[in-house]
Amino acid sequence: MRNVINKYVPTPQVLETARAIYARGWRTIKLYFMIGHPSETLDDVQAIADLAKSVLAQGRPFHGKKAQVNVGVSTFVPKPHTPFQWASLDTRARVEAKQALLRRELRGRGLKLSWNNYDETLLEAYLSRGDRRLGPVIEGAWRRGARFDAWQDHHSPDAWAAAFAEAGLAMDFYTHRPRPMEEVFPWDHISPAVKKQFIARDYLMSQRGETRIDCRDQCFACGILPTFIPLRRETPAEAWECPPVTKRSERIRVPAD
Ligand code: SF4
Repeated sequence: MRNVINKYVPTPQVLETARAIYARGWRTIKLYFMIGHPSETLDDVQAIADLAKSVLAQGRPFHGKKAQVNVGVSTFVPKPHTPFQWASLDTRARVEAKQALLRRELRGRGLKLSWNNYDETLLEAYLSRGDRRLGPVIEGAWRRGARFDAWQDHHSPDAWAAAFAEAGLAMDFYTHRPRPMEEVFPWDHISPAVKKQFIARDYLMSQRGETRIDCRDQCFACGILPTFIPLRRETPAEAWECPPVTKRSERIRVPAD
C-alpha cells in the first residue's frame, strides 16, 4: 500500500524512529493511518495493527507498561486534483469490516484506537467531488435541520438522504463509481498548476503498485514549478530549478489541460 500511495518508508526505518523517540523520554507516539483505498485488502489492514504493535514494542524497554501508541485511522475519501479523483469510495460493508478487524486487534494495555463513522465519510465524499447540482441538495438538507454535520452528535444522514431524493439525484453517482479517464470533471476549469496528465499517470502507476522516483532526480514535467516561478522569493541564482525532462510521457487518454 505504501507503494500504491507513493509514500514508501521502510518498516525498519519507522521502528528505528520510534525507538529514538521513546529513548528521548516520550512515552506516547501517535500514528495516523488511512483505510479504504480501492485496492486495499484485509491483509493490508492487518499490517496496520501489526505495525502499531511493533512500534509499541519499541517503547517497552524504555517505559515498560507506560509506553503508549495512539492509532488514528481515518477513511480515505478521493479528492479533486489528486491521483485518486477517478477512484470510487470504499463501500460501507468493506470499511466497517476493516474497522472491526482493527478494533479486535488493537486492544489492550498501551494501545488506543480512534476511527471515523462511515456516515461522516459519505458526507465528505459526495461534497468533495460534487457538482453544481448539489447546491439545492445542501439547501434541502439545511432546511431539514442539518447543521454542524462534522460533529458526530449533530450529524443528520436522514436530512441529506431526503434532500438527495427531492433533487432526484443518487448519492452513489458522486461516491461509488470508478470514473472513466475521459470524464470531464466539474473542477477541471480550475488550475492547480499540476497538469491533469501528470496526476492521471500517477493514478495508473498506483494501480500497478509503482512508485515515482524523487522528481529532484528526474523531472516528470508536472507543471507546478514553471507556473509558480514568478511568485518565488529566491533570486534566480539561489532558486532551485527542475531538472531536465528526460523521459517520454506515457500516452493516456484524458482531456488536455
Ligand atoms: S521537478 Fe519540478 S516540474 Fe518536474 S515533476 Fe518535480 S516539481 Fe514538477
